[in-house]
Amino acid sequence: MPSLSEISDARVSTVRRRLLSWYDEYRRDLPWRKTKDPFAIWISESMLQQTRVDTVIPYYERFLDRFPTVDQLADAELEDVYGLWTGLGYYSRARNLHSAAQTIVNEHAGQLPNTVKDLRKLKGIGPYTAGAVASIAFNKEEPLVDGNVIRVLTRWLDWREDVSTKPVLDTLWKWAGRLVKGERPGDFNQALMELGATVCTPRAPRCLICPIQRSCLGRQAGDPESIPFKPKKKRAQSVQGVAVWIERKGKGLAVRRPEGGLLGGMWELPGGTLETNENIEAGLRRCLHESLSLKLGHLKAMGQIEHLFSHRRLKLHIFQAHAFEGRIRRHEIAEHRWLSPERMAELPQGGPTRKALALLGKTSHESPRSRLKSERQNQKSLEP
Ligand code: SF4
Repeated sequence: MPSLSEISDARVSTVRRRLLSWYDEYRRDLPWRKTKDPFAIWISESMLQQTRVDTVIPYYERFLDRFPTVDQLADAELEDVYGLWTGLGYYSRARNLHSAAQTIVNEHAGQLPNTVKDLRKLKGIGPYTAGAVASIAFNKEEPLVDGNVIRVLTRWLDWREDVSTKPVLDTLWKWAGRLVKGERPGDFNQALMELGATVCTPRAPRCLICPIQRSCLGRQAGDPESIPFKPKKKRAQSVQGVAVWIERKGKGLAVRRPEGGLLGGMWELPGGTLETNENIEAGLRRCLHESLSLKLGHLKAMGQIEHLFSHRRLKLHIFQAHAFEGRIRRHEIAEHRWLSPERMAELPQGGPTRKALALLGKTSHESPRSRLKSERQNQKSLEP
């Protein structure tokens, strides 16, 4: 790859100018681009991490309807914040937003800090989000690097090294830092990301309509689609789990996971993870004894569901039980409640629990995301 000094300032200015005018003409009309409110921009950037734009839009609108200011978010119950996040995944983001909002109210008089240094002190704000908020909301010449920026920069510079290594990423941050200097830094950062999302796409980049094609070294070298180089991912590890609907007077037992870790703070059916080669039914009985001190009576197998996490493929065996012995004593469980199926379905929960409840016939199989979509479509069809 060329070093920072090998590409002239004039060439960098040309790329900046072309990208900004392309962005002015072709950018997508997204709700967070209609505001300069730092709070709204922070919420959008937090939601957009690991999640597609079209998925985020209804969540973003619903979230800001409910919590239009940082004070309202700080005052909210965490469970209500989780409720608005259900279906969006990576729930630690919701927990961190809530915690950071309280810090902003208590330590910054309710104003989002406007420097990367101070933003980084808030829970859940990493270098990307700090750069995004500082540049987009406060017009600071601060860089950001996400997957789209990595792709555009490595192709533009024809850099074919492993982008998962720290030295390569550090150099990309330096390049982004050089490019962002100049007028409209927030728009420039968004233009770079927009180009990666809509033109310089992972497959079949549309070089013929790209505003920076003339200076793109990756295109000149050929096969830009093979950049950025990433080593092959390890296969997701397979894990077997068990979950049980324990019924008492028409209500089922729900348990809440401790905060932190995978699905931290989420509600689910009691159960756990099977040990290698463990008998499924015996494993369920062991899990219930270890986590709740309960001895289950007769078990009825109801089927299995599968769920893919980023590094783990879960096969969950689902059972029903109508009898148990013992008094509930929780171990590594934050809370438990006896709930109607309807109430259970409303609580913040992960994908496996939604699928398990649907398999048990306790809810429809429709995910909150598709439910939102159909609600929006219904609303539209009612409009004159
Ligand atoms: S010319 Fe092609 S490879 Fe280069 S930045 Fe544009 S779309 Fe990407």
